[in-house]
Amino acid sequence: MAGAATEGKLSPALPLATLIGRELRGDGSERPIVRYGHSGFAKRGEDYFLVNPDCLRVPGDPSSAFSVFAVFDGHNGVSAAVFSKEKLLEHVMSAVPQGISREDWLQALPRALVAGFVKTDIDFQRKGETSGTTATLVVVDGFTVTVASVGDSRCILDTQGGEVSLLTVDHRLEENAEERERITASGGEVSRLNLCGGQEVGPLRCWPGGLCLSRSIGDTDVGEFIVPIPHVKQVKLPNTGGRLIIASDGIWDALSSETAAQACRGLPAELAAKLVVKQALKTSGLKDDTTCVVVDIIPSDHCSTPPALSPKRNQNKLKSLIFGRRSHSSVGKLSKSASLGSVEEIFEEGSAMLEERLGRNFPSKANLPPFRCAVCQVDQEPFEGLMMDNVGGCCSAPSTPWGGPYLCSDCRKKKDAMEGKRSSRSTTCSPASTEQIGGSNKPGFYQQCR
Ligand SMILES: [Zn+2]
Repeated sequence: MAGAATEGKLSPALPLATLIGRELRGDGSERPIVRYGHSGFAKRGEDYFLVNPDCLRVPGDPSSAFSVFAVFDGHNGVSAAVFSKEKLLEHVMSAVPQGISREDWLQALPRALVAGFVKTDIDFQRKGETSGTTATLVVVDGFTVTVASVGDSRCILDTQGGEVSLLTVDHRLEENAEERERITASGGEVSRLNLCGGQEVGPLRCWPGGLCLSRSIGDTDVGEFIVPIPHVKQVKLPNTGGRLIIASDGIWDALSSETAAQACRGLPAELAAKLVVKQALKTSGLKDDTTCVVVDIIPSDHCSTPPALSPKRNQNKLKSLIFGRRSHSSVGKLSKSASLGSVEEIFEEGSAMLEERLGRNFPSKANLPPFRCAVCQVDQEPFEGLMMDNVGGCCSAPSTPWGGPYLCSDCRKKKDAMEGKRSSRSTTCSPASTEQIGGSNKPGFYQQCR
């Protein structure tokens, strides 16, 4: 798809003193220019991407503009990827309290992303379809970048100093011990596919279902411990800007983060996306699941080229680059003390526990009805909520204290199911999920890793 450009809107008629003050503070208040490009191949057509450069936080107010970019890598069919592309952003935005300041919106965004991902998963699963998808959603507001992701598509950040950092975490069972422990503790089994002779083949999968991912949207036919709760990271770029590369696993199986970043430095976003895909295909020879979106965040007083990312920079690093998927820990997590130029880490959280993600004091500054569900945003009458909470009968888990915000009964069931406490799908009292979990009784089919 042809790339396009969007220019951040400046606040009208700022007093001279304000402008001088900003200049002196160097606080990057001016909105950067955002340019983007896309490229990709997906043999089975299960990759989708979303580019929405002109979102408004406050309807009718151009100074509240922000941009959204996303990659969805579907598996076992396209419907979950298509549904997420159509609904995820809307669900995230519906979870942001109205009438709050930009600062409060950026602060509310990580929680809203969690709520939006979970709502999208619940709504898709109600359709009764079995496909699933990864989802990596990136919100760019000024120099602040917020990334939410489930699955193994990635978003990397390349900044002017040539530092490349990973803004997502891979939710692949093979590479994520923490997720393996969580799933086992929730009643799932993690093992490789067992062939007739007892031979174990392929990557680690979780049963029932045989999925290689530990988090996704959709996947109604796998264990409910495959959760849609995203890892969320929020950073503020230096006022020199930076480049984001968002791509599905076909790219990252072939290229390390550093290789992908270096391969396209100095090129405009559209060409950069094409080159990353080309480089990945050259390395792996595969032409599947290689969707790539490149986003340049360029200071508005800068020339129109990408943010001073010289293609010749750090060429000495090339010598040590090894092609192929780098290990989970080689880039590592950002930390405030990490050597990342002046990228400022604002927020990072990856817990799969809804209570930890929605917080006890949510929403802190919005005046919302007390019985509005923090996930699906449906208002319930207190009596209705209490009634529905009490009709779980013999399927109910023992009551556990819930320290999070109000949840409707459906979302509370979903929460318990994700934690392995009860199934949200069974309408009978038989322990169906326990039978399925039996290790000797794996399904005769397995799903693709993607
Ligand atoms: Zn709800």
